Amino acid sequence: MSTHPHHRRDGRAAGPGIRAAPSLFARANAFLDLVWEASELGACMTPGCTDCGALEFRRMLATADGLPPDVPLSLHARMQPGPDRVASALAELDFDLLRLAPRWYDALDSALFHVRDRGRLAGVLESWVRRDAVPTRVLDLVLFRHARYGHPDERVADLWIDRCLEASADTGDEGLVESLILACPERVGADPRALRAALDASRRSSCVRDIIGRIGDCA
Ligand SMILES: [Zn+2]
Repeated sequence: MSTHPHHRRDGRAAGPGIRAAPSLFARANAFLDLVWEASELGACMTPGCTDCGALEFRRMLATADGLPPDVPLSLHARMQPGPDRVASALAELDFDLLRLAPRWYDALDSALFHVRDRGRLAGVLESWVRRDAVPTRVLDLVLFRHARYGHPDERVADLWIDRCLEASADTGDEGLVESLILACPERVGADPRALRAALDASRRSSCVRDIIGRIGDCA
């Protein structure tokens, strides 16, 4: 996966009349609703943005979970009890509708940190990991940001890594293969299908070859 630069107020960059009608897609899900609203406002959604910390969007997420507007966005405040609307909406998220939303990848990245801070990441990932289809970029994002560090807990992280190994073998996706080799080379080495996909990817991609070279031969 890659990181993304700060997106300044570019929500209206497409100009009037060009933007897709958000109400068509958003109303079915409280999280998607927020993403479209943040885009309308031109709010930066890049997690860890060094310019603004995505404060405006993070405040919108906190407000959606019932946190008062004057509470600082500290970890302690985000741990306060609340309705957890964001986690519920993420658990039910339709990935096809997600990918129609503006800057959905950054928005999802920020929101996953939000629900992790609120102790609700496990429920979201348990819902996703059982689905028939999870987009490769979502698998990769969660692997790279959370599962590789054992978040939200060891059991769910393991389920997630299993799912990523399976997807890497099925798709041969080079980004996912790279992330798996960086995150858990021993798991790739122990899984014959994933290892085959990694070796195939290394023949096609110099990036994958470089990473295998840095880590050492995982076979
Ligand atoms: Zn920013």
